[in-house]
Amino acid sequence: MHALTVDLEEYFHVSNFEGRIARGRWDALPSRVQEPTARLLDLFDAHGATATFFALGWIAERQPRLLREIAARGHEIACHGHAHELVYELGPERFRADLRRARAAIEDAVGATPLGYRAPSYSITQRSLWALPILAEEGFLYDSSIFPVRHPRYGIPGFPPGLVAIQLGGGTAILELPPTTASIGGMQLPVAGGAYLRLLPMSVFRWGFRRAARQRPPAVLIVHPWELDADQPRLRVPWSVGVRHYRNLDRTEERLAELLRGMEFDSMLRVLERAAAAGGIPARPLGDLVAESESDSDAVAAAAPAPVAPMARAEEAR
Ligand SMILES: [Zn+2]
Repeated sequence: MHALTVDLEEYFHVSNFEGRIARGRWDALPSRVQEPTARLLDLFDAHGATATFFALGWIAERQPRLLREIAARGHEIACHGHAHELVYELGPERFRADLRRARAAIEDAVGATPLGYRAPSYSITQRSLWALPILAEEGFLYDSSIFPVRHPRYGIPGFPPGLVAIQLGGGTAILELPPTTASIGGMQLPVAGGAYLRLLPMSVFRWGFRRAARQRPPAVLIVHPWELDADQPRLRVPWSVGVRHYRNLDRTEERLAELLRGMEFDSMLRVLERAAAAGGIPARPLGDLVAESESDSDAVAAAAPAPVAPMARAEEAR
């Protein structure tokens, strides 16, 4: 059983377009998120799959009915921050405020507290690890932001891939289920979805995702509604940005359907509950994980047995 996740945002929220569409113009742009989200919901229904939707607070404030419909159809609503600002650019104080505003907007929309977080553009990196204790303090149970790859905007190369309970000191912990990578010849190939699902040949993506799912279950699949919106307005952007954002938008749905046909997916929360119940969540201090990242080694050290304490919060939230 693997985690199916959607980052619920408009096409104009993506970090690739920052500086090209001013934040002040967002409210003037027609929303396009509903139609592709409806297609995702139908696709998930057709395959009996439950997902986690990491919603922007910005979306929750403006489209509470959309969030309510997603929740009513059985999916988990989690948090993607408020206005898609990168965590390491916010700094600790503004990050906490951003988190609280997004959480309040989601709570107002669906009447439930989000327990999971995914940073805009996976922006929990070496320089924003202070975000993890803040997430735990603010009541978040899990995070899915630390991409164990090297990338100009995100990633902690060498961070141990796979599910871990990160011990933060003082008896607190947060579960981390990183976006999925496949270990191939000592390298971590990103196969979590998003642009990789559209840019890699499907045979390569499918092979990589299945390999990752075998190596370190549970795997995490990520998709955005705008990735199913082939008719979205085209911005004039540099070639490399255009490829990442626009290539193969008309194929996302069929590729997603192919993965859903062949594998079983559920929400992050249920996948984590199942892993915890099976005693399958290694617990490791943050310092150890960071030291291992700095040495940039691919080795995953033997892990201590799982604490079940973080999952108790999921029970309380019911
Ligand atoms: Zn995003």
